[in-house]
Amino acid sequence: MISMIKRAAFYTLGCKVNQYETEAVIDIFIDNGYQIVNFSEKADVYIVNSCTVTNEAARKTRQIARRAKRRSEDSIVAIVGCYTQAFPDEVRDIEEIDFVMGSNNKADILDKAEEILAGKSIENDVKEYKELKEYEELELKRLTNTTRANVKIEDGCNQFCSYCIIPYARGPVRSRKKEDVAAEIKRLAEQGVKEIILTGTHLGAYGSENGNNKELTKLMADLTEIENLNRVRLSSIEGTEIDKGMMDLIAEEDIFCPHLHLPLQSGSNKILEAMNRPYTLEEFKKTVAELRNRIPDLAVTTDVIVGFPGETEETFAETLEAVKEIGFSKVHVFPYSAREGTPAAEMEQLNGNLVKEYSKKLRLVNEALMLDYQKEFIGREKEVLIEEVRDHTTGLLTGYTDNYLKVLVDGSDNLKNELVKVKLKKSVDPYHLKGEIIK
Ligand code: SF4
Repeated sequence: MISMIKRAAFYTLGCKVNQYETEAVIDIFIDNGYQIVNFSEKADVYIVNSCTVTNEAARKTRQIARRAKRRSEDSIVAIVGCYTQAFPDEVRDIEEIDFVMGSNNKADILDKAEEILAGKSIENDVKEYKELKEYEELELKRLTNTTRANVKIEDGCNQFCSYCIIPYARGPVRSRKKEDVAAEIKRLAEQGVKEIILTGTHLGAYGSENGNNKELTKLMADLTEIENLNRVRLSSIEGTEIDKGMMDLIAEEDIFCPHLHLPLQSGSNKILEAMNRPYTLEEFKKTVAELRNRIPDLAVTTDVIVGFPGETEETFAETLEAVKEIGFSKVHVFPYSAREGTPAAEMEQLNGNLVKEYSKKLRLVNEALMLDYQKEFIGREKEVLIEEVRDHTTGLLTGYTDNYLKVLVDGSDNLKNELVKVKLKKSVDPYHLKGEIIK
């Protein structure tokens, strides 16, 4: 007998917000009787949730969509999300695509796919990014993993950093209602999720579209009322967006992880200004000092873009110096690559080899800093949230402390997704510590 169950496959590129949205759309398809299959299998509908942050991400999006159509000519293939929103004409021109959608109305993907499956034609309109005014409520119903869940609370960005395409791909800041966020997190906690990561395109701008800059702090205060909530982590936030109330909450409420990801991007004020970043190096350092003063053992991780137009030996040396002085516990190094459509792409670009050389130097500094931060915790006891998957090389259980140290421990599978007390014994390499579970 031929199965009448329709099959759908999803491919997600890019950030945690995209992953959250794909999961929520998958829930809609399942609720409507679809079977979800791997992207490499035959399906009736293929959805690519795209990314446009780099030219490479856009290229990959096109490649994946084309491959899906080649696999199965009769299937519906759609590209949705950031790439379509920022470059709608470029995406519409891809022959293999049956429909496109921008960054909003993702809840309508199923309806559009079904209309095409039924032989109808649909409008392939993508709104201008400035017109994306409403926060689109999507929620996760099914859990693929109970160790941690990303919860999206905000969409869009008004900052327009000169290297970044995201404001054109996501539109202006729109925030999810506090009650809806709290209800979702309460449900996830009841379902046994141990760690919640609050995510957004520009998380710290939460609520700012209504002229209120303290909404994220208020939301965090509301979350302290939820029972059985173990850990809440903020995905990434500008130092300028952390107020005193937020510092107090992180310092005093156990559920908030003492870990903040504050993107520095450069240690040179000249480059920060060219990037249109909203702070100077001095302001950034002052914020970190205040945070460390208030929150013991705080892990401060960061992003740095290396080789931005105008970068010189001198500005790069300033960045190296700043990174060491601040003493981040981890630095994500991004070699600058021009994104078409952004102001920085029009500036004079550095030689690619020089960008590689700077990146290598900064990565070495990062590894030394990671080891330094680990050292502070050797011999101490920390709670570790054990992951679902074991470490590939050692076969040991892996997990993260609240301050984002990755720890390897010996133990049985029934510890997966549990919070266990661990004595941190030694550093294995910059990325791992070895620990022992305390009985
Ligand atoms: S703050 Fe800057 S880097 Fe972050 S999303 Fe907005 S424009 Fe992009």
